[in-house]
Amino acid sequence: MFMCDCCGCCCRNLSKSELYLDLDRGDGICKYLEGNLCLIYEERPLLCRVDDCYELFFKDSISVEEYYKLNMDVCKKLKDMEE
Ligand code: SF4
Ligand code: SF4
Repeated sequence: MFMCDCCGCCCRNLSKSELYLDLDRGDGICKYLEGNLCLIYEERPLLCRVDDCYELFFKDSISVEEYYKLNMDVCKKLKDMEE
């Protein structure tokens, strides 16, 4: 399982990808984010589900270790930007 620390950085930077346009409240922050937590966590969209996306889209092309590493690299970039 992907080790997310619930920092909320990805949910505050939606404008970096057009895939998340529907969730953006207009300033890059998700309309479902409260503090660092997702108000619809159990029903959050597929694109917010790291492990489910791996199973559906990536498992035939890269290993789960590589996939997690790519995700963690993006998390780190977002965290570094907010510091
Ligand atoms: S940026 Fe990464 S660690 Fe932070 S909430 Fe998003 S997925 Fe989790
Ligand atoms: S739906 Fe939840 S997990 Fe997805 S971007 Fe919004 S707050 Fe983050």
